[in-house]
Amino acid sequence: MNNFSFTKALDMDTAISLTSGNDHNKLIAGGTNIIDLLKYFITEADTLVDINSIPGISKIAENETGGIRIGALVTNADTAYHAIIEEKYPLLSKAILAGASAQIRNMATNGGNLLQRTRCYYFYDIHTPCNKREPGSGCSAIQGYNRIHAILGHSESCIAVFPSDMCVALSVLDAVVHISGPEEERNVAFSDFHRLPGDTPESDNNLKRGELITAIDLPEKGFSKYYSYLKLRDRASYSFALVSVATGLDLENGLIKEARIALGGVSPKPWRVKEAEDFLKGKEPKIANFEATAQMILKGAKGFEHNRFKIELAKKAIVRNCMMALDPTSQRAGAKPSL
Ligand SMILES: Cc1cc2nc3c(=O)[nH]c(=O)nc-3n(C[C@H](O)[C@H](O)[C@H](O)COP(=O)(O)OP(=O)(O)OC[C@H]3O[C@@H](n4cnc5c(N)ncnc54)[C@H](O)[C@@H]3O)c2cc1C
Ligand code: SF4
Repeated sequence: MNNFSFTKALDMDTAISLTSGNDHNKLIAGGTNIIDLLKYFITEADTLVDINSIPGISKIAENETGGIRIGALVTNADTAYHAIIEEKYPLLSKAILAGASAQIRNMATNGGNLLQRTRCYYFYDIHTPCNKREPGSGCSAIQGYNRIHAILGHSESCIAVFPSDMCVALSVLDAVVHISGPEEERNVAFSDFHRLPGDTPESDNNLKRGELITAIDLPEKGFSKYYSYLKLRDRASYSFALVSVATGLDLENGLIKEARIALGGVSPKPWRVKEAEDFLKGKEPKIANFEATAQMILKGAKGFEHNRFKIELAKKAIVRNCMMALDPTSQRAGAKPSL
């Protein structure tokens, strides 16, 4: 860790001016990721700017469109256990609680969750080439140990995955990210927030220099009746997803009116395929239809030496999760899954 100074920003303008004026001034919210990045020399800070005292971005409240606004500084734990989230957006609660540990969720903020960096082993090892950490140096994972890496959306420059659980649910819920910056305030659809690596893997998302996430809006539709989040990983807890799936279904007269399915742990951003979701419209919610959807979602998937298993695993996870969404009570502790 390099030596840095520490300051508390008491308002948004101060935080924006400190970070827009110097790329080496870094924001800190819960600190659960940025501190590791500093300790491992993956990033450096001249000044660490604590944003926890900025007013107005640490609450959850209904918004003007019947949905809900979740402040960037609200912790993952307070979000997951908030009464409105539990009732109207249980998919989000479930996804958050599948992540990290109770202690980390108590510190981790929602804004920080969107901006956490990949868990690629080589990214965290400064003695190995990594295009994301040091553009142009190469990618150690492509020919290396790539068990946790991407099967969709990767490029020749980088095959890392985005590790968040919360964001997989936010993708299904069609969240909108609110941003304040030196030039403007803007809203970005969740699907446009994170980016694929292409030949610039150093940028994980479309946030510009000096910009802060202020809130995340969820539209009214929360899929509170038919939903499920399934996380498959090497350990039962405190482990990142090898494959995860968020599903929200809307049924009418026994047929699927709307289906949304996002994958996590397999790509550089939560992965949704509109064509596969549209295919389910008007169809019966049964295994054969979910299997056909899974084939469509995994179309074009390419694995590497140690992670090819993820392709079949993801297909099976999609089918199982869609069946579980039909009976969310099956996901309570001790219940047997429907499949
Ligand atoms: C051991 C461990 C296990 C974990 N397991 C999981 C898991 O299973 N699933 C999962 O989803 N996550 C997991 N996490 C990740 C954890 O959820 C994130 O580290 C956390 O959400 C980041 O939030 P934070 O507030 O601590 O961010 P910080 O570490 O404070 O910041 C992270 C980044 O975001 C920037 N930032 C923070 N807030 C803002 C803002 N409002 N606007 C602009 N920039 C901002 C910071 O500058 C920094 O670059 C794990 C973390 C650890 C350490
Ligand atoms: S996969 Fe991406 S993050 Fe991992 S070594 Fe390659 S370039 Fe770096």
